[in-house]
Amino acid sequence: MSSHPTPGVLEVITGPMFSGKSEELIRRLKRARIARQRVMCFKPDIDLRYHRTAIASHSSQTHEAITVANVERLREALYPQLDNIEVVGVDEVQFFDPDIIPLAVELIALGKRVIVAGLDTTFAAEPFGPVPNLMAISDTVTKLSAVCMVCGAAAIHTQRLGQSQELVVVGAAGLYEARCRAHFRPFMDEHASEQLELSSVLESPEKI
Ligand code: ADP
Ligand code: MG
Repeated sequence: MSSHPTPGVLEVITGPMFSGKSEELIRRLKRARIARQRVMCFKPDIDLRYHRTAIASHSSQTHEAITVANVERLREALYPQLDNIEVVGVDEVQFFDPDIIPLAVELIALGKRVIVAGLDTTFAAEPFGPVPNLMAISDTVTKLSAVCMVCGAAAIHTQRLGQSQELVVVGAAGLYEARCRAHFRPFMDEHASEQLELSSVLESPEKI
């Protein structure tokens, strides 16, 4: 028998916000566990929604996860467990630094199934962080669409509502909406901005 393990795979789940990326990641991780594979899941600590010890979908499904500050921390948490792990999941992968790419390559070489989920584009419709590179080197890409909140068509864009141009404002209610190509406005949506002012007062003024 060869001393090299059978190579693993890299699966990328991508699309705009609300397209079901986390749901799909959770579904795959749960199925892997049903098949008695051992799973570890990670997310960046930028995502403060709901749980520090789980990933969560907008439909309230969850899966246990470890929150890590960066790829180095992810590595430190993963490697001591690696012999016991078959599947590595990462949610919100767009927020990790580019070191996630060589790490994915390494894990594939070690025979692991690596499943990453994250946004393909920012609210300005630019490719987001390491996601394009991960898509390029992956075995499969599942590109999901959401439902456009204006017309109900398939949505590929994440519309930022309101003024903030900061790239990282995560999960604050009312800050983002899925939009189709026809209804996406890269920087500002006047009508939506009025909605934001109302919802931000009601829900999370500190996040704006
Ligand atoms: P993502 O991780 O891609 O942001 P989630 O898996 O967290 O998506 O959430 C997907 C769920 O969000 C859907 O199953 C649905 O219940 C809900 N949802 C809310 N708004 C929308 C929308 N505009 N389009 C599709 N699903 C939506
Ligand atoms: Mg998600």
